[in-house]
Amino acid sequence: MPPCSSWNEHPTDIHLDEQHPEHLDERTWEGPREECGVFGVWAPGEDVAKLTYYGLYALQHRGQEASGMAVSDGLHTVVFKDLGLVSQVFDEQVLSSLKGHLAVGHCRYSTTGSTTWENAQPTFRTTATGSGVALGHNGNLVNTAELRDEVLAQRRASAATPSTRDRTAVQSTTDSDLVTELLVATAADIGVEESAMRLLPRLRGAFSLVFADEQTLYAARDAQGVRPLVLGRLERGWVVASETAALDIVGATMVREVEPGELLAIDSAGMRSSRFAAPEPKGCVFEYVYLARPDTTISGRSVHAARVEIGRRLAGEHPVEADLVIPVPESGTPAAIGYAQGSGIPYGQGLVKNAYVGRTFIQPSQTIRQLGIRLKLNPLRDVIRGKRLVVVDDSIVRGNTQRALVRMLREAGAVEVHVRIASPPVRWPCFYGIDFATRAELLAGALDTEGVRRSIGSDSLGYVSLEGLIGATEQPRTRLCMACFDGDYPIPLPKEALLGKHLLENLAVPATMDGDIGAGVADTVSGAASGDPGPLRTGPAADRAPALLTVGYGGEDALRRP
Ligand code: SF4
Repeated sequence: MPPCSSWNEHPTDIHLDEQHPEHLDERTWEGPREECGVFGVWAPGEDVAKLTYYGLYALQHRGQEASGMAVSDGLHTVVFKDLGLVSQVFDEQVLSSLKGHLAVGHCRYSTTGSTTWENAQPTFRTTATGSGVALGHNGNLVNTAELRDEVLAQRRASAATPSTRDRTAVQSTTDSDLVTELLVATAADIGVEESAMRLLPRLRGAFSLVFADEQTLYAARDAQGVRPLVLGRLERGWVVASETAALDIVGATMVREVEPGELLAIDSAGMRSSRFAAPEPKGCVFEYVYLARPDTTISGRSVHAARVEIGRRLAGEHPVEADLVIPVPESGTPAAIGYAQGSGIPYGQGLVKNAYVGRTFIQPSQTIRQLGIRLKLNPLRDVIRGKRLVVVDDSIVRGNTQRALVRMLREAGAVEVHVRIASPPVRWPCFYGIDFATRAELLAGALDTEGVRRSIGSDSLGYVSLEGLIGATEQPRTRLCMACFDGDYPIPLPKEALLGKHLLENLAVPATMDGDIGAGVADTVSGAASGDPGPLRTGPAADRAPALLTVGYGGEDALRRP
């Protein structure tokens, strides 16, 4: 079911820089961009800030634009977040100041809203009685415009400025922030748990949420369970995380996955499970291809084992005579091992990855930028020279990486370059939390396999079939989302104008709301509210220090919580 015909109407501009791929901006030759990682811990007596730090470290591959955590000691919640890697945002001094028994952590790649300090997570809002809710979100909602209208109507009905003492929140443009505002709107009357039970069924799209008030850690997953979320046990507490690899690093044992449509609440009363929607599992198949760490397990299947099996199937489906199988590191490595096993062709390392260069926030100079793919990958010439190569990569998105790669391998002396891809052609965009590209930018959106082969300049090209990929995951086909390959979106989409990463930035403020919104921003920034904790920074990281949002509510406020 193609989602909207207009996405296919614009001729692709994929040939734009075909002659000079080395002149492309680094972003242009990136593949799929990860989404976000979430982590939560409830563990009295443990250093929850450090557990969260290490948990986020294990999830860093899911988002490198911003990092943050909220820590609560039962009375106060402190949020610390900034643009940058986990290791850039947090240091020993910051972590030692974050005291408490529960924490929510997040590492972000933006799938809704720009890369700004305000859009970093956890988001934070306060209820009418001053209790705080911090929230981290992995995934992307598809009824964001609807929720935004609801938030505006709510503000108008209450004749109030945004119900928050976090004055940065009004400047954020994420679906996650809307969820947090809707969550706290009724929490003062009915409690956060009940408020979540009423709100979660109204969210459509992909969401793995970890959120907390001062006492309780919550975790929730959409009815389709598109994004992963797992529950682990510590000796003295509980952990929830995007991937099992994050449980491993903090010494937690895997208990189970958070079920699609389930809300978990964890506090001194123990762990409670509630259903807010009937499960209709549609896990993202791309987690197996590229997104998740190889040492993670999803639905009982090792991601590494699935990738090796994809490679074996790829060898069976697209055999070729060659001397050496090499991976595009690191994501192509397990499938290349599988291809070598399946084909009997020796496996070797032909490319070395400059692992950290893509993670820097320092803009490269023009000289460096012109190196293009060589910034990230360097060929081992002695290994490659004179060889017929099979090069295994995880996916082709825009094709710029593979085009530059094939050229680089030929220049390094390869006599033949056969490209094998561990996923079917990516023909459709993802609206559930992966930032591939627009339909017009997807190389396979406009070209057949032979057209893609000619475009990237390889001697041959083979993609694993969708059947082969599904078989390698060992999951029933009916429990997987494969929309980026077959265009069959399991969660209905709104019209195109109500989708997109910058939806909330692009949506014009309705004329009737001009006054409300304008006043909301002004009042909140001026900090006129009674009992307001004082001036808070709202600027971007460019004029950083401190990136700390401290929300302290004394005993009386806390005791008034429902
Ligand atoms: S569209 Fe593709 S990347 Fe997005 S959730 Fe579905 S399978 Fe995953």
